[in-house]
Amino acid sequence: MGTQPKETILVVISDPQINFLLERVLKSAGYYVTICPDSAAAQRELVNGGPTLILLGENLTDMTGLDFAASVLRQNPALPIVLIVSIDNPELLKAALRLGISDYLCLPLKADEILISVQNSLTKVKMHKEWVLLEAKRASVGLHQRLDEIDALTRLGHAVTSSLDLDCVLTAVVEAAVELTGAEEGSLLLVDASSGELYMRAARNFQEEFVRKFRLPIQDTLAGAVLRTGQPVILDEKTPQKIKTAYLVHSLAYVPLQSHGRVFGVLGVDNRLNRTPLRESDLKLLLALAEYAVIAIDNAALYEKISHENNKLDTILTHIQDGVIVIDRERQIVFINKIAQAAFGLMDQKLIGHLFDDIFSGNELYELVTASHKNQVDRSEITIGDGRIFDILLTSIPDVGLAITMNDITNLKRLDRLKSEFVSTVSHDLRSPLTAILGYVELLDRVGTLNEKQRDFIQRVQVSVHNITSLVDDLLNLGRIEAGFDTRRETVQIDQVMRLSIESFQKQIGDRHQHLSIDISESLPMVLANPMQMRQVIDNLLDNALKYTPDGGIITIRAGVKQNQLIFQIIDTGIGIPSIDLPYIFDKFYRASNLGNADAGSGLGLSIVKSIIENHHGRIWVDSNLGQGSTFSVVLPFSES
Ligand code: ADP
Repeated sequence: MGTQPKETILVVISDPQINFLLERVLKSAGYYVTICPDSAAAQRELVNGGPTLILLGENLTDMTGLDFAASVLRQNPALPIVLIVSIDNPELLKAALRLGISDYLCLPLKADEILISVQNSLTKVKMHKEWVLLEAKRASVGLHQRLDEIDALTRLGHAVTSSLDLDCVLTAVVEAAVELTGAEEGSLLLVDASSGELYMRAARNFQEEFVRKFRLPIQDTLAGAVLRTGQPVILDEKTPQKIKTAYLVHSLAYVPLQSHGRVFGVLGVDNRLNRTPLRESDLKLLLALAEYAVIAIDNAALYEKISHENNKLDTILTHIQDGVIVIDRERQIVFINKIAQAAFGLMDQKLIGHLFDDIFSGNELYELVTASHKNQVDRSEITIGDGRIFDILLTSIPDVGLAITMNDITNLKRLDRLKSEFVSTVSHDLRSPLTAILGYVELLDRVGTLNEKQRDFIQRVQVSVHNITSLVDDLLNLGRIEAGFDTRRETVQIDQVMRLSIESFQKQIGDRHQHLSIDISESLPMVLANPMQMRQVIDNLLDNALKYTPDGGIITIRAGVKQNQLIFQIIDTGIGIPSIDLPYIFDKFYRASNLGNADAGSGLGLSIVKSIIENHHGRIWVDSNLGQGSTFSVVLPFSES
């Protein structure tokens, strides 16, 4: 019997003689021995020393041996305890067995019996420990394998979400499939849209040439069946192989790749040499990996679609003949096309990502953008370095910033100028002959008596010539205003101008039984303006209001201050303006479609009014309801002083 050095036996027995015997026997067999006569000392020893076995007496000084054993086993169920009793007692033996006592010795003690009992108990414990260790190891191998799988799946998940390189992701999926299932080869097959056959999109452990040439029909093949049914398959040597695979294998597993209910490919692993079959758990793993492949393929398709759309949009914006600049809310340039770059002499410079202010500060566009109001479309004209004139449209785009479109209107401007010059010249040249005609018509009366009919004709000639003269005057006037010749400004009391204008229309109002309502604020601020032109504005608006309001109608003149601006309105209860005519009402020669033949006019009055107001940095607009009346509103900035 071999001794077990370094193993400590704790003897918990109150009888000194037995203790003495045990100590001698055990020590001679090579054990360390600690003697404790009572339970308290034994407990301390248990905490400090950690014996490998306890020899326990039937009765201790303070409790029974079994009670002590129960309390020890509660804390350390694997500690072997050998109970020593004075006489054989089946009841006690039963209780000891139930408690989990390892062995049982009866007095008188014999040396070899003691040692056999101790040895057996220790061997049993040792064997138990070894078994537990072995089981733990076995479990941890499985656990490690699961951890490896989870780790590989997590890495793949990360690769799928962080990489847009489809080749990379799909290869990683196939590699993981091979590694985690322990198979020899793996492949990812997709349907070739043109031929309808399966080709190898990614592979592991196949020869390159084989992968390149691989083509598999969908009919009568295993992969084709997975594609058609959407069901995974597992094949081993026992499965009847009616259906073709492209090469001979011992075992194989295929799972479908499907997105939105459509199967478009197959992920598979196989063993050609190795006879280890593939298991259901491999199938589960492959299904999880297939999910990753599907996400990657979907992502790639989505990305391609978006970048295709982006490219299309980019190409359109780059080649469009208008200049386009887009800036974000921090005024960083998000987009600028060639036309816009060329216009500002910035060709071949990388501007995207730069601050708009850094590139454009100091030029007219910068001023416009800086002054532009959020959530509003602003329109203006600028002249660039080479003399070209651009119509600038600033459109604020929610969540993006500001889009600046530039339309080259140099040619239109030139034509407009030519037309104005032509009209001006013609009008000027017409004026002298018209004056001559009027002069001679007036003389007719003096050179001989005229009959009634002749006088009537002469009067008609005079009215017509007057109409033409006033048209020519309007044209000349408009030409002068548009050319911006008259830039004289003085502080003007608008209410006075209004009252003078009203005075001049009093007779006409009375004749037509129209009612005039005046609502002019007492404390109107002064405006810096050309008084003659202001009078012209009010005359024209008032004249129209009277002209286009039937007898007995009401004309209201209102003036006041709103948001630091002078605002005045001429409101009538007249015929109104059809909504289709409203956008053109301020154009030259435009007359609304609801006018009768008898309504005289040139269609120039409102163009003159608009030009004057804009020369004074003001705004004019009209609100009108057909058959109910019109409101013309004018806003002018104050004079600061
Ligand atoms: P016109 O000499 O024809 O009055 P304007 O330029 O002054 O020319 O006005 C252009 C057109 O606008 C008019 O022909 C008329 O159709 C319409 N219009 C102007 N003012 C009024 C108004 N107060 N009520 C209705 N229609 C108006």
